[in-house]
Amino acid sequence: MFYDSSFLLLIPAILLSIYAQIKVSRTFSKYSKISNKRGISGKEIAETMLRSEGIQDVSIKQATGFLSDHYNPLKKELRLSPDVYGGSSIASVGVAAHEVGHAIQHARSYYPMHLRTFIYPAVSFSSWMAPILIILGFIINNLGMLKFGIVFYALSVVFTLITLPVEFNASSRALAFIKTHSILDSQEFDGTSKVLKAAALTYVAAAITAILELIRLILIVRDR
Ligand SMILES: [Zn+2]
Repeated sequence: MFYDSSFLLLIPAILLSIYAQIKVSRTFSKYSKISNKRGISGKEIAETMLRSEGIQDVSIKQATGFLSDHYNPLKKELRLSPDVYGGSSIASVGVAAHEVGHAIQHARSYYPMHLRTFIYPAVSFSSWMAPILIILGFIINNLGMLKFGIVFYALSVVFTLITLPVEFNASSRALAFIKTHSILDSQEFDGTSKVLKAAALTYVAAAITAILELIRLILIVRDR
């Protein structure tokens, strides 16, 4: 039931996702091996950036796990993976600065970020419920249940779309800071920029996949 001709609709999204994954892992592995000339670590750039923005209530902690970097708005905590926290590669600087970008969004009440945090609990619930309703709806052939499932799924699609401006904006804040404060030279800056652009592409691929999957579900249900 999930492998009808509408599955073809997903092929461009699958190809883009594969391309984005390859691109991100290649760019990361290249620039995580090159140290920046000033020897500044992820933790150091995070501290410098927070200080320069006048943000004093955000703590920087070392997280566990590869690429587990994130900003927690509830705890006001910047969690950097070991490679980023202590590492001084071009990639580490970019990732740490990007996460600080999220902390700045939070401090400056950047609207898309607040909206994203606000709808997150509803999205967690709906993305858990959607597959259950959709699969059960198909099994017992209940159109109402399928439609409910699609509405729930649509909410998580909205979430992936709101994620885009949040991620792009965090990266542009990071790059602007690195450039204006001459943290990296122009060649290093180019590398950091490539790392952040590759990471952004994975979010774009996820959003396109989610939209096409939604269209596909609507088409399948409409034909029933
Ligand atoms: Zn981010």
